Amino acid sequence: MQTYEQLLDRISRATGLMIEDIERKVEAKRAKLSGLISKEGAALIVAAELGINFEKQKIKINEISGARKANLIGKIIKIFPVREFKKENREGKVANFTIADETGNLKVVLWDTNHIALVENQNIKEGDVIEISNASVRNDELHLTGFSDIKLSQEQIENVKLEKQFSEKNLKDYKTGENIKIRAFIVQSFEPKFFEICPQCKGRARLEGDDFICIKHGKVLPDKRALISLVLDDGTENMRAVLFSEQIEKLGIKLENSFLEEREKFIGKEAFFSGQIRQNKLFNTSEMFVDDIEEINLDNLIQNLEKK
Ligand SMILES: [Zn+2]
Repeated sequence: MQTYEQLLDRISRATGLMIEDIERKVEAKRAKLSGLISKEGAALIVAAELGINFEKQKIKINEISGARKANLIGKIIKIFPVREFKKENREGKVANFTIADETGNLKVVLWDTNHIALVENQNIKEGDVIEISNASVRNDELHLTGFSDIKLSQEQIENVKLEKQFSEKNLKDYKTGENIKIRAFIVQSFEPKFFEICPQCKGRARLEGDDFICIKHGKVLPDKRALISLVLDDGTENMRAVLFSEQIEKLGIKLENSFLEEREKFIGKEAFFSGQIRQNKLFNTSEMFVDDIEEINLDNLIQNLEKK
């Protein structure tokens, strides 16, 4: 569901009306209906009366949550290698890239061979601005089938948002694959584990005899990395979370010290955790792979609440 401000903004973009004028129409509509509908509901009625078809309208990336279909313009910021897949009854290719606008970025998944050919033949490249129509929205990703359309756009997009987007959620509402941001307590922690990685490809380097071997790069002088598993609890659910070296540092954990003593410092700590929910196939449970940890800043929190 979109916020009231987003709806006003979309109506304004579609009609050229000033936000204040639209708000006045919305208030008039609510008054007429004796306040029985929400501001969002009234805004949707006003939009329909103004002849706006949201299904056809272009949206900004931060507006896709809750939409089923989307049309939008964005700049391609990263193209991933085309992958081939084989399942029981079909095989094919799938292409992925990330597009961004000034409000956010998201993953685009191409299933149609004509669209995939655009990537393979470099008819669309990183840095290109493209227009996508009639894409399906699934788990905050855009999926393009044969009914969807991609074309190069002449529009200029300057300040694209490159940081990963996380939707603020409760742990009980997560879906596997989602990037979420939660406010949670660390309620439990397990001993750190150490392992070695290849300095070139960051893949695992395994000890064979006296040498560390990377599958791709052979004998390497490995970098040491650490991993800690925590249990996070946001009041709705608890979940295992996995932290690697950078995030461990962010929590202020010093691995050279005794872990029992270090643990005292962060058990019971509350913070914002952002990361991706992944399935642990071994235990058939979900885990959060933490990308970022932010201290809770009360001033920001109050500001955000006041905005709502
Ligand atoms: Zn390597």
